[in-house]
Amino acid sequence: MRDGMSIVKSYTNETEAQIALAHLQAEGITAVIEADNCGGMRPHMDLTCGVHLLVTGLDCEKAAALLQDAKADPITEAWTCSSCNEKIEAGFDTCWQCGAEKK
Ligand SMILES: [Zn+2]
Repeated sequence: MRDGMSIVKSYTNETEAQIALAHLQAEGITAVIEADNCGGMRPHMDLTCGVHLLVTGLDCEKAAALLQDAKADPITEAWTCSSCNEKIEAGFDTCWQCGAEKK
């Protein structure tokens, strides 16, 4: 591990780690990915194989919060159109009946 950096999150595949890395960098946080070499470099870490996302200590808390937000993210809830009272299913931003935007 690099000096002054700590693991903010671990992933089972590198793709997920890359996405998280890009997310953090977009927020101005310097992060690096470290993949454990399970082939003998660290025999004592056999059980913790994976891809780790590391940030500097100062950014650790912020990074963790950002990653949590990203996870909580997507799926919007069902809502009711304020114009025509039509019930709109989750995932739509405009009313399919009258075209009003979600407020
Ligand atoms: Zn409507």
